[in-house]
Amino acid sequence: MKKKIYDYALSKGASLVGFAGVEAMDDAPDGFRPLDIMPAAKGIIVLAKIIPKGIMTSGNAVIYTLHVEHLMTQLDTLAYNIALFIEQNGSLAMPIPADDPYFHWEIDRQHGMGLLSHRHAAVKAGLGSLGKNALLITPQYGNRVQLVTVLTDIPFDSPQEIVGLCPTACHRCVDVCPSKAQTGSYFIEQKPCRSHMFTKSDRGHSLYRCWQCRAICPAGQS
Ligand code: SF4
Ligand code: SF4
Repeated sequence: MKKKIYDYALSKGASLVGFAGVEAMDDAPDGFRPLDIMPAAKGIIVLAKIIPKGIMTSGNAVIYTLHVEHLMTQLDTLAYNIALFIEQNGSLAMPIPADDPYFHWEIDRQHGMGLLSHRHAAVKAGLGSLGKNALLITPQYGNRVQLVTVLTDIPFDSPQEIVGLCPTACHRCVDVCPSKAQTGSYFIEQKPCRSHMFTKSDRGHSLYRCWQCRAICPAGQS
C-alpha cells in the first residue's frame, strides 16, 4: 500500500512524499501528537510541494503571497485526495490542515501552533532536517517547500532521519532577519516576526512582505 500511496501522491502533484510510524512523533508536545488528533492513527504521510525559484527571488510581495497561499490550498486538496484514495483501499485517513485554522494561540507572544507540526513530521518521515530558521531543509529543494500531513491507520516503518543540512558555521538567516526574531537555535520568536512579516496593500490586501530568512538560505539552491 505504501508504494501505491507514493505513486498516487506523485501523480497528484506531490514533489516529495515521506512515511513514518506514528510513534516517531511521541516526543511532540502534549495535545500535538498524531494520537491526540486521530486515536486510530498508526502511520504518518508527509507531502511537499515546491515553491519555484523565481518566486523566491522576485522580492515582490504580491507574487510571493499569492503563490504561497495557493500552495497551501493545493496541499489541502492533495491531502484530501490521498485520504480518499486510502479509504477507497479499505483504510482510514485524516488530512491535517496545511496551515489555518488551528486552536493554539498565545496572544501575548503572538504564538500560534498548528494541530501538529508538519516540519517535525517531515523530519521523522525522512524528508529533510530543520534549519536554524526553523524551516525544513530538503536535500532536493532546500527550504523551498510547503508541507502537509495525512494520518492513517496504516502502519509504516520510520526511516533514518537526515541530519546535517544546516551547517554549524552558517548563520545567514539569523544575520539577515530585520526583526531579530531568529534565535539561531532552530526556533523563531513569532511576535517580532509577525510584526515585520505582514503588511497590507493600499487597497487592503494582506501580504507577506518578508521571507528573507528563507530566500537567503543556500541549501538546495544549486
Ligand atoms: S520572515 Fe522576516 S522577520 Fe520573520 S524570521 Fe524571517 S527574516 Fe525574520
Ligand atoms: S541560512 Fe544557513 S543557518 Fe540558516 S537555515 Fe539555511 S543553512 Fe541553516
